[in-house]
Amino acid sequence: MQDLHELFRRAADEAAGFRSSLGTRPVQAPVDQARAKELLDVPLPDAPRDPAEVVDHLVSAATPGLMSTPGPRYFGFVVGGALPAASAADLLAVGWDQCAFNGSLSPAAAAAEEVAGGWLKELLGLPETAGVGFVTGAQGANTVGLTSARHHLMRQAGWDVERRGLNGAPAMRVLAGAERHATIDRSLRLLGLGSDCLEEVAVNDEGAIDTADLARVLADGPTGPEHPTVVCLQAGNVNTGAVDDLRAATELAHAEAAWVHVDGAFGLWAAASPALRHLVDGVELADSWGCDGHKWLNVPYDSGFAFCSRPEVQTAAMSYTASYLTGSGASPGAADFTAESSRRARGFAVWAALQELGRDGVADLVDRTCALARRFAAALSDAGLEIVNDVVLNQVLVGFGEDDARTDEILARIQQDGTCWMGGTTWRGRRLMRIAVSNHLTTEADVDASVEAVLRAARHTG
Ligand SMILES: *Cc1c(COP(=O)(O)O)cnc(C)c1O
Repeated sequence: MQDLHELFRRAADEAAGFRSSLGTRPVQAPVDQARAKELLDVPLPDAPRDPAEVVDHLVSAATPGLMSTPGPRYFGFVVGGALPAASAADLLAVGWDQCAFNGSLSPAAAAAEEVAGGWLKELLGLPETAGVGFVTGAQGANTVGLTSARHHLMRQAGWDVERRGLNGAPAMRVLAGAERHATIDRSLRLLGLGSDCLEEVAVNDEGAIDTADLARVLADGPTGPEHPTVVCLQAGNVNTGAVDDLRAATELAHAEAAWVHVDGAFGLWAAASPALRHLVDGVELADSWGCDGHKWLNVPYDSGFAFCSRPEVQTAAMSYTASYLTGSGASPGAADFTAESSRRARGFAVWAALQELGRDGVADLVDRTCALARRFAAALSDAGLEIVNDVVLNQVLVGFGEDDARTDEILARIQQDGTCWMGGTTWRGRRLMRIAVSNHLTTEADVDASVEAVLRAARHTG
């Protein structure tokens, strides 16, 4: 047992040491995947090895390939940096090794999801009575939301989709904005609906759904209870941060008996800020929602939430039974709200993150990162660069002119420089730099140093 104490302490010290180095370490990992593989690609031993020696070996082999994604100057994709208490809670979740399947396997893990799930609904402005499943991320949440939609709509149309599948089923209509997240398409593929079932709705200049076009597309096909129809909305366009007009779009959809799913991976967090809440006005009217913990809430990977206004629909769509499970805890159990069976205990880290921040801290995290995004936009614009989007949330799109190859060269130079890390995107046919500010650690000084690095890279690229 003494060995285990030492081993865990060693691992925790190593992790904390890495995290303490994030302010000064180059953001880009020193080695690429091929080199990282060489370091890890040792022979599989025949005989067992000493655990402490294995951990030391892993630390030395993996460290060069670690990105400073949890650090204050990583602005790629939409990646949060895990909060201290949330990180420690996840270390405990691993150490406790609890299975969050249901309250019989782990009363505490299931209860943490219940309690933290309640807090999440309150902060995100969702109905108190909604069901919550703790999933891997917004991809998982979108799949749960769309599966719940399929169950509910098919039942209304007189079809038992869980039993009969989609062969011979009423045709399902799925409407979504042209700039929906690609995970919506994958969820539709997994559900057997196929991405071809999508009826694309036009978006406005910022990539939010055009409600007039939504009304047109809805009216273009059959609607009503016999024609299962889902409308996928988005809170937080992954390029621009734009949020759909949730109230207007949901009212249109509901008038046609359609189900509304909101993909709010990061943008749903606008609801937690009194200053930004107006952006998600009407969010509570929808039928299902997907959101991430590992993005803007700064919970360690992986962490996402699938909410459904009708918990009984969510569990009817997702749960299963087996003889050995009857009588093994409260029903429905935590996993009945997800597409997984055995699950790691994600509730502890979310519980800890929300206790660490409090209501005001969550609002401050959202407001502060949005202010830092505006600081980026102002400084880069003052320096003569083009800010392509309306910076309504934490996303900034930056143009370096019309030469896509030059934009990619600048991006590569920024990433190699190591001060900060920004990714690229192709938006409306043009290569741009994407900045997402999602980390509680980021300061004005981090933004200023990163602006300098960007301008330096642009100056040095012909
Ligand atoms: C990030 C994102 C997703 C996918 O989320 P994961 O956490 O990677 O599964 C889906 N939708 C939107 C809008 C996103 O920003």
